[in-house]
Amino acid sequence: MTNIIDGKKVALKIRDELALEVSKLRENGITPGLAVVLVGTNPASEVYVRMKKKACQKAGIESYSHELPSNIQQDKLLSLIDNLNNDPKVHGILVQLPLSKHLNESIVINHILPEKDVDGFHPISIGKLLLGEKCFRPCTPAGIMELIDSIGIDPKGKQAVVVGRSNIVGKPVSFMLLERHATLTICHSRTKDLPAEVKRADILIAAIGKANFIKGDWIKEGAVVIDVGMNRTSDGKLVGDVEFETAKDRAGAITPVPGGVGPMTIAMLLKNTVEAAKI
Ligand code: NDP
Repeated sequence: MTNIIDGKKVALKIRDELALEVSKLRENGITPGLAVVLVGTNPASEVYVRMKKKACQKAGIESYSHELPSNIQQDKLLSLIDNLNNDPKVHGILVQLPLSKHLNESIVINHILPEKDVDGFHPISIGKLLLGEKCFRPCTPAGIMELIDSIGIDPKGKQAVVVGRSNIVGKPVSFMLLERHATLTICHSRTKDLPAEVKRADILIAAIGKANFIKGDWIKEGAVVIDVGMNRTSDGKLVGDVEFETAKDRAGAITPVPGGVGPMTIAMLLKNTVEAAKI
């Protein structure tokens, strides 16, 4: 029978463990702190920021909110980041993306101290990941690896196929799979025969952003399928990149959307923040 991977349950377990760890840290006078910077009023970003702040509160992590107008000048934003970099109460800094068009995302992210880069997007964090060095791992890819571990699958020697090569999901998760000794294929929009590539996957990571794009009959019997996609259909339903109903009959294990990868991202953000507080 197919194992439907319960991301909510795995995330909750991690968050409970973190809450315990935080209470011990607080007893020793350390309160992990996360600064959350939101520019503008993008409704999706506002929802994400609210969820992150609530999750911090539940875990005993202090969150410091900075809500800035959408027309904020870049140097003002950079000087806020300077202050947060220098604030000993702030262990992690999260700048909610995407930023307004007039702001340069890479300049802003590069301004965060790598020691406080709990989102794991700073070039130093990504470079260290590539070199196999200790660093903050981007949250969604780290959450994907936790889900694979949660079902007792060792990527070593397995054919892993990642569809998508974005800087926030596809590329970092590829390096993490490689680090765990998977044999890796990365696919993207110029890949010639995507179904053939997907059919070879013992572990499939779908991070495309197109509803039900990967068909059930492309899935190898028994494969582990991690669906990162979060797509809103015309009738308002949230669906993944993989055609779940047909894929689940062939997969050995599969994540649902919602309730798979999504809950893991916040859990890993909290985990990185607690790690940052321990440095
Ligand atoms: P991007 O749009 O940045 O990247 C999409 C990738 O998919 C690109 O590399 C693109 O290739 C590739 N792609 C597009 N079309 C095809 C195709 N026809 N065949 C093969 N590859 C294709 O997306 P993200 O990585 O940011 O996000 C991907 C999905 O994951 C989205 O649905 C997003 O909402 C979701 N997401 C979910 C998170 C969560 O917490 N659950 C967190 C982050 C993202 P190319 O590079 O050639 O253009």
